[in-house]
Amino acid sequence: MGLEAALTTDTILTTQLRRVVNWARRSSIWPMPFATACCGIELMATACSRYDVARFGSEAMRFSPRQADLCIVAGRVSVKMMPVLQRIYQQMAEPRWVISMGACASTGGVFDTYAVVQGVDQFIPVDVYIPGCPPRPEMLIEGIMAIQRIIDNEGIPPKGPDGKRVPLGIALQPSAVKAKPVGITVGS
Ligand code: SF4
Repeated sequence: MGLEAALTTDTILTTQLRRVVNWARRSSIWPMPFATACCGIELMATACSRYDVARFGSEAMRFSPRQADLCIVAGRVSVKMMPVLQRIYQQMAEPRWVISMGACASTGGVFDTYAVVQGVDQFIPVDVYIPGCPPRPEMLIEGIMAIQRIIDNEGIPPKGPDGKRVPLGIALQPSAVKAKPVGITVGS
């Protein structure tokens, strides 16, 4: 981490346990990819060398919910599939977080049908909504960083008076820059 270059090996540091725990937690958010459609491809791209989500400690995708603390819902979820997602969420390690990636996961997208869930937040608490169809890998990384910032500042997910988990409900802003028309000269 570079500390060993700045400090001698027999140096003693004092800090708060809360800060150390939060630092460890935010540096090792392990995703449980619940990728059902095209957004999943962008999720996979986030782990490739170009975007390198390992820089944030989140490259360890786990396909066992008990070893993961960040559920990334990428793609549309059918009504039939929702009980599976709920069970996976319940089996994940605490404290756990949820990212809703893309229009389909957050709203059903263009699939306004009786068979598709019109927003997974109706059934599981969503902490970060990522807009787009599909969102770019940078947006997913921004979503992970938003959770890191919460862990840094507050540590654990907030709970309401009834003891139930309160979703953070952070909505990212689209970062895409609109392309401007390019002037074309016809003839000489
Ligand atoms: S939001 Fe767009 S890219 Fe993502 S799953 Fe839906 S249709 Fe596919």
